[in-house]
Amino acid sequence: MHVQDIFQSHPTTFSFEFFPPKTAETAESLYETIRELESYQPHFVSVTYGAGGSTRELTHELVVRIKETTSLDPIPHLTCVCHKEAEITAILERYAQAGVSNILALGGDPPKGTDYRKSDDAFQHAADLVKFIRKFNASGVHPDKRGFGIGVAGFPEGHPGTPNRLLEMDHLKQKVDEGADYIVTQLFFDNRDFLDFRDRCELAGITVPIIAGIMPVTSLASMKRMAELAAGARFPARLLRALQRCDNDTDAMSRVGIHHASEQCRDLLENKVRGIHFYTLNRSDATKRIFESLGIKHSRFAEASA
Ligand SMILES: Cc1cc2nc3c(=O)[nH]c(=O)nc-3n(C[C@H](O)[C@H](O)[C@H](O)COP(=O)(O)OP(=O)(O)OC[C@H]3O[C@@H](n4cnc5c(N)ncnc54)[C@H](O)[C@@H]3O)c2cc1C
Repeated sequence: MHVQDIFQSHPTTFSFEFFPPKTAETAESLYETIRELESYQPHFVSVTYGAGGSTRELTHELVVRIKETTSLDPIPHLTCVCHKEAEITAILERYAQAGVSNILALGGDPPKGTDYRKSDDAFQHAADLVKFIRKFNASGVHPDKRGFGIGVAGFPEGHPGTPNRLLEMDHLKQKVDEGADYIVTQLFFDNRDFLDFRDRCELAGITVPIIAGIMPVTSLASMKRMAELAAGARFPARLLRALQRCDNDTDAMSRVGIHHASEQCRDLLENKVRGIHFYTLNRSDATKRIFESLGIKHSRFAEASA
């Protein structure tokens, strides 16, 4: 379903993010996760695109498999990094033919260990990709006459590439002005950062839905990985203190992280968030426990009380 229709008919959306599996074994465990999370009836799920397009085929395969074999609505991520116009066109054509309704348009993480040069990319910033998808939409190739719905990324604590936060907001506004339908944020651990970001977007004249990215800390290793991947993410002292009290007990740390994320979700719902997007890391347990803690049986049930 086109995201405009999703947001029009649902005051609060719930969505899950997966990454494409690299081996047959991890694929099986991911499909198990997907089956378990399907019962929550998320409004959509999204599938990441490896740094530098490294999972181009795997992302496509997973998106099509989800679409064909489950009741879920998959949104593929697509990035500027390492791509020429013709490649992006080919990818969009395949998704259009497969009846995929939406795309998350991103700058993309640069590939590691290569002599990558940004200047070789056809699209320098996500805004250029959004503009290109809009042009593609006008070509009439997509079965929906509006073409793809388009999402973009937002960074409540700021993107490390642009320390000037006023300028960064201009860049975000540009993505929306080029035609983005919604914003999904980087993970954060302090809701004040998200709520202030939402206010700043409003002041900048950004009116599209902004959905909050949530990822619970489940271990010390997961926290270190998040600090690396979501560069600049702030780990509040309150959370760190609670984790420290666990004295390296992995189960206790997981409970603390999930409790923290559940409290974040509860507070976001109180603050009329437009949607919550769970970074699942292809596991279902943490997300299930957050839903249980919120007393939510499935996404459609939640919105009745929103
Ligand atoms: C929800 C979400 C999902 C993600 N999924 C993936 C994924 O699947 N694959 C992947 O590789 N990465 C993914 N990422 C990471 C993301 O691609 C990187 O963080 C990237 O550095 C920023 O992406 P962007 O779309 O915001 O890029 P952009 O909007 O292009 O911004 C990147 C930087 O360029 C600056 N900028 C933008 N426009 C201009 C301009 N006109 N002039 C000068 N500077 C400008 C911005 O301020 C920012 O600092 C994801 C991030 C998020 C939040």
